[in-house]
Amino acid sequence: MQRIDAARGLTTLHEDEALFRDSVYEFADREIRPLIRDMDEQAHIPRALIDRLFELGVMGIEIPEAQGGAGAQFFHAVLAVEALSRVDPSVAVLVDVQNTLVINALLRWGTDALKHTYLPRLAGGSVGAYALSESGSGSDAFSLATRATESGDGYVLNGRKLWITNASEADVFIVFATANPEAGYRGISAFVVERGFAGFTVGRKEDKLGIRASSTCELLLEDCQVPRHNVLGDAGKGYKVAIETLNEGRIGIGAQMIGLAQGALDHTVAYTRERKQFGQAIADFQGVQFQIARAATELEAARLMVYNAARLRDAGEPFVKEAAMCKLFSSEVAERVTSLAVNLYGGYGFVKDYPVEKLYRDAKIGQIYEGTSNLQLQTIAKQVLG
Ligand SMILES: Cc1cc2nc3c(=O)[nH]c(=O)nc-3n(C[C@H](O)[C@H](O)[C@H](O)COP(=O)(O)OP(=O)(O)OC[C@H]3O[C@@H](n4cnc5c(N)ncnc54)[C@H](O)[C@@H]3O)c2cc1C
Repeated sequence: MQRIDAARGLTTLHEDEALFRDSVYEFADREIRPLIRDMDEQAHIPRALIDRLFELGVMGIEIPEAQGGAGAQFFHAVLAVEALSRVDPSVAVLVDVQNTLVINALLRWGTDALKHTYLPRLAGGSVGAYALSESGSGSDAFSLATRATESGDGYVLNGRKLWITNASEADVFIVFATANPEAGYRGISAFVVERGFAGFTVGRKEDKLGIRASSTCELLLEDCQVPRHNVLGDAGKGYKVAIETLNEGRIGIGAQMIGLAQGALDHTVAYTRERKQFGQAIADFQGVQFQIARAATELEAARLMVYNAARLRDAGEPFVKEAAMCKLFSSEVAERVTSLAVNLYGGYGFVKDYPVEKLYRDAKIGQIYEGTSNLQLQTIAKQVLG
């Protein structure tokens, strides 16, 4: 059902959207905020918190109700990621990958049997991960080296994946591999791989600058047996699965970045009203007010771009350019806004006892994953220049 009303503002939410967004934010404020420092230091999201995310209904947003999901739209996923990220971008990306990449790919490309097997599990307690990147193939994703060899009624996968978000927690992995390296991108297929499949291991976990609580690990595929019916989309069409899901995934990263920037701005407004220098609140200095006004303006522009891309996607309109633009811009805005937040906290911005130091570190990833900023510019340039 499409309900885009041109007479309303893009940021004017429908009642169900506003209720959903507010309930996710209230949850994050109440249950995630007290855990942020420990999760960042320990580089870990407690399983009990993940269970609460399932109970809240944010781990299967687009999964039909009949299969245990919320039966909502992509836009709701964007709102959930934004609201969570306003409190903690690490928890937000766990939810983002689950919805905008894994569930999205299964909904769009899965056979009825695959949907029947995996969607209820993903809605009911299993975390998903999306494994495209390798040590030698990042931006040039389709030069991947992981091999898929046909064997009996299935495939055997061999190779290593790198940088896989949610790998520590996930039970279900979408893994890309090539059955025919000579065919280039046309040799690539996507496979649904379970943690328990023979020959599958989660390897080393990265020690990161930001979004430290979000797990990022290597995957080892050593004669990993995958049944033929676990091919996602047609064999040889994995590149299409990847391109199309990542186009949508980028909107989710845009949402993560605007939520993060909003969180930093919230802290900064409160702090500058409180902090006194020269006998007055620093928020009373026009120099500070103008900096905050500019940050709020940039954030508003970024949010409009993210919401517009998400609404276009739900309406079935073209959105590839808008998705790339919203990720490019909102990740730059997040970096600028969090940097300003650190500046306006002064020395307190530079230490871990205050929240903005972490958000500054967390912001950087927005310009790297799901396509670096240069790759977004490449996509935009193709659309603009033809
Ligand atoms: C925390 C984290 C989580 C991640 N999660 C996942 C995940 O869940 N699943 C997954 O599959 N991957 C994931 N990734 C991988 C991520 O998508 C890649 O790191 C990213 O695509 C960049 O690839 P690369 O690191 O190999 O950099 P490279 O591709 O080597 O790029 C290095 C630099 O060169 C530039 N560059 C490259 N090619 C061009 C070009 N043609 N024109 C101009 N500039 C260019 C890039 O913009 C960049 O600045 C994650 C990465 C991180 C750090």
